[in-house]
Amino acid sequence: MDLDLMLDNITNGIEMSKELFRYLHQHPELSFKEYQTREFIKEQLQHYGYEDIQTNVGGGGIIARLVGGQEGPTIAFRADIDALAIHEETNLPYKSVNDGVMHACGHDAHTAILLSVAKQLINYQTEIKGTIVFLFQHAEEVKPGGAISILKSGALDDVDKIFGLHVRGELPFDGAVEYCHGYALAASDTFNIRIQGNGGHAATPHKTVDSTVVAAFLVQQLQTIVSRNKNPLDSGVVTVANFHSGGGAGNVISDYATLSGTVRTYNPELRQMIKQRIHELTEHICQAHGATAVVDYLDGYPPLINHFEETELIHHLFETQFGQERVFETEARMGGEDFAYYLEKIPGSFYYIRAGAFEEENYPHHHPKFQIDEDCLQVGIETILTIIHHYHFSKVGVLQ
Ligand SMILES: [Zn+2]
Ligand SMILES: [Zn+2]
Repeated sequence: MDLDLMLDNITNGIEMSKELFRYLHQHPELSFKEYQTREFIKEQLQHYGYEDIQTNVGGGGIIARLVGGQEGPTIAFRADIDALAIHEETNLPYKSVNDGVMHACGHDAHTAILLSVAKQLINYQTEIKGTIVFLFQHAEEVKPGGAISILKSGALDDVDKIFGLHVRGELPFDGAVEYCHGYALAASDTFNIRIQGNGGHAATPHKTVDSTVVAAFLVQQLQTIVSRNKNPLDSGVVTVANFHSGGGAGNVISDYATLSGTVRTYNPELRQMIKQRIHELTEHICQAHGATAVVDYLDGYPPLINHFEETELIHHLFETQFGQERVFETEARMGGEDFAYYLEKIPGSFYYIRAGAFEEENYPHHHPKFQIDEDCLQVGIETILTIIHHYHFSKVGVLQ
């Protein structure tokens, strides 16, 4: 099978891919509640001719298998399908009709890309060496996420390699693809702290335990974890994102204060140390001031670590397919992704396609004006077909 021919078919069918994307964009659903999206994906796959379709995998995942006519490896491709609790502020003709819910991370594009590949590939079933697994994953955005339960279900036990892509909306679309060796995305934990003081009249502070002052002191001290406790050669972030105290009156000392934020790390020991220091600092600072506190620390996704061999493979495949000028190595980031769980169990790689709709400045992911250029769909489809061609069609066609 000729890759160029397959790519020509994709170019001819690109309007269909855009239609899929627009439909999904217009009908976003929240994590763990992607009911109609899942139904839509299943119907599309059935319509293309797929028979081996598993639904509700690990709760809400959909897995379609294309078992080829010849021996070969089993390779999975993952698209996440969920949207965010954001009120869309774009002027797109296909803007969200579900008020307060928006595809502001590009998962609509991921789903449209993978469906388009599935549609194209079924025509080549007899020629395929091995099995192609199309994995549509629910709930990437909300912890514990869909990936971990899909893995636990055992549905991916026979998978030899796994690949996933993410659009990068903050960079203008220019046809470029980015790969990342090793650490790519951080472990992302969250914490909530409630500091209980003893409120009272603002004119008699000596009769109170002022939770605002204690919380303010704690915010300052939490900064020392990164600046004084962390090895400077290790990457780590501690951000206090929210601080609430008091009910609005200027003559009342607040009874309690709440803080919440996020911790991002790569190194598991550093991750553990930061968690412990947050507990220690909170406890001791509160004790020193006569307050008490409850720390609710939630372990999030593990760090996403790309496998060397598979990352090198896609690097070379993409350079051959797109030319060196369109392929870039990118640096690790402190964002998080539950694709990390798959890579703990299955060799593979997670890569990016540049996708921003605007030439100059683009809105970041999770922004109400987040917008991607639809032409990135074609690049996404081409990247997956290139990988599939290597594993399932090429003469060598053996596991790398
Ligand atoms: Zn997101
Ligand atoms: Zn995302």
